[in-house]
Amino acid sequence: MDQLLDGKTALVTGAGRGLGKAIAEALCGAGARVIAVARTASDLDAMAAERDGRIEPWVEDVTSDDFIARIERLQALDILVNNAGSNRPEPFVEVSDENLDFLIDLNIRSMFRTARAAARVMVRQKSGVIIHMSSQMGHVGSPRRTVYCMTKHAIEGLTKAMAVELAPMGVRVNSVAPTFIETPMTKPMLDNAEFREFVHRMIPMGRTGQPEDVANAVLYLASPLSGMVTGHSLLVDGGWTAQ
Ligand code: NAD
Repeated sequence: MDQLLDGKTALVTGAGRGLGKAIAEALCGAGARVIAVARTASDLDAMAAERDGRIEPWVEDVTSDDFIARIERLQALDILVNNAGSNRPEPFVEVSDENLDFLIDLNIRSMFRTARAAARVMVRQKSGVIIHMSSQMGHVGSPRRTVYCMTKHAIEGLTKAMAVELAPMGVRVNSVAPTFIETPMTKPMLDNAEFREFVHRMIPMGRTGQPEDVANAVLYLASPLSGMVTGHSLLVDGGWTAQ
C-alpha cells in the first residue's frame, strides 16, 4: 500500500482539517507528493512538518483567481481531490440569499473552476484522476438541506459529464459520496442528541463514519486499482441510500 501512488503528485483542497486532512495524509502514506490547500497556514504546518517535505502547503482560498492560476502553472498533476466545501442547514422557506450564494459559490462554482484548471494540466499530459467530494445528499434529499443537496447533485452531474468528455484524453473522473462523518463541519449537528439519534437510525450500520473511511475510498479511486472506473459515485454511507 505504501507504494501505491509512488511518483504521483496530488492536490487536495480543504486539507487543513476534517476529510481533506485525512485524505492528504492517506495519499502521502501511499507514496504521493501532496499539495495540501487550506486558508489557515497553522492548520497545514504541523501536518507538513511530520511528513518530511512530502506535503507542500498552499495557503489559498479555493474561490480566488490566484489559486486557479497557480494550479494551471503546475508542470504535472496526477490526482486532484476537490474536497473543500461547506453546509449551512436551514429550513427551505428561510434560506437567505447570502447562504444560497455562499454555498453555490463554494460547493459548485469553485469546484468547477478547480477541476477545470486541473484538467487543463492533465489533458496536456494525457493522464490524471479527478475525485470530487460529493455526499449521500448528492443522491437523496433530507430536511434543512435544500441548498446543500442541490449543490451536491450538481457535483454528481459534473462528475458524469466530465468523465464522458475526458475519458478519451486519459483522465478519469469520479466522486465520493459519504454519509455523516465526524468532522468539524458536522460536529455542531451531531452534538445535538436528537439529530445524532436520527442519523444513527437512518444508517443501517448504526454508526457515523470516520474520516479514514472516506480517505480509503479516495485512495482506491486515485490509484490504478480503479483503472477502469470513471463517472462513478462511490457511496460511503453505511447503507443510508440503499433503503
Ligand atoms: P470541514 O469544514 O471539517 O473541512 C472543510 C475544509 O475545507 C476546512 O479545512 C475549510 O477550511 C476548507 N475550506 C472551506 N472553504 C474553503 C475555501 N474557500 N478555501 C480553502 N479551503 C476552504 O468539512 P468536512 O466535513 O471535512 O467536509 C469536506 C467535504 O466533504 C465538503 O465538500 C463536504 O460537503 C463533504 N462531505 C462531508 C461530510 C461529513 O459528514 N463530514 C459528508 C458528506 C460530504
